[in-house]
Amino acid sequence: MNKVSLIVHGGAWNIPEELEADHVKGVHQAVAEVFPRLRDSLPALDAVEAAVRILEDDPTFDAGRGSRLNARGEIELDAIIMDGASLNLGAVAAIQSVLRPITVARMVMERTEHCFLVGTGAQAFTREMDVPQQEASELLTPRELALYQEIQNDPSFTTRQPFEPSPTGTVGAVAMDQWGNLAAATSTGGTPRKLPGRVGDSPLVGAGAYADNACGAASATGWGEAIMKVLLSKTACDLLKDHPAMVAAQMAVDFLRRRVQGLGGIILINPLGNYGFAHNTTKMAFAYADSSGQVVARIHAGQV
Ligand code: ASP
Repeated sequence: MNKVSLIVHGGAWNIPEELEADHVKGVHQAVAEVFPRLRDSLPALDAVEAAVRILEDDPTFDAGRGSRLNARGEIELDAIIMDGASLNLGAVAAIQSVLRPITVARMVMERTEHCFLVGTGAQAFTREMDVPQQEASELLTPRELALYQEIQNDPSFTTRQPFEPSPTGTVGAVAMDQWGNLAAATSTGGTPRKLPGRVGDSPLVGAGAYADNACGAASATGWGEAIMKVLLSKTACDLLKDHPAMVAAQMAVDFLRRRVQGLGGIILINPLGNYGFAHNTTKMAFAYADSSGQVVARIHAGQV
């Protein structure tokens, strides 16, 4: 049996101290619930979907419940899932009223001829698939309403980052199963006060996530407008061909910074099942199962 590995993240940004404990608890829970099932023969694709669903349910994160509001005060969600064995993928963007967009992304992958559905077409697809439609109030948290009200008319607020991404908290998961298959998944509510219809890096293949058994799998987070320009997840997977996992992760975020002044973070797994993570934001929340199956969950603080 191959080594099995699972790593998840809950966003890379200047996570306020008072939210740190909830972030650690949330990422810990995702790995603690899913890793034993992965070890017990759950396929990698099911593991990343299950881990992201847990994080989408958790109001701490900017995905599913707890998502940021756009400039019109609405929640628009993006997600992607990718199978490293076949390179099949499914993605959705700018969908509303769904708690777990990652599962809709998987339905796109497995129940349509397509890879990516957006907007009203994606919304209609959720109804065809009998995905429960949520009232906006079920996804909205008091924290996000308060942030929206605070920044709604603030002329100095920008999602364009000179120094630090504005509050984010996208979630992602990367797994390798006992057959050596890799998978990656990412889900987000996007950036606060984004223009309606704005899509960031998260659901874009190669940017927000990538998985290929031949080189590795990755999930990214941070400032989407920069991450998409350098296809951060694909760049990191390509670097895995010649570098150890931790080195590849660091090189990828260094390239993000150097080439497009981008800030963000990445988690990844190489075909040996080794983890890599790096970020150039102040903090990143992530968790993984170590070689003895213990969950390591933390807020990693680094230098901007
Ligand atoms: N990358 C996401 C976006 O730009 C935000 C995040 O990762 O927190 O939509």
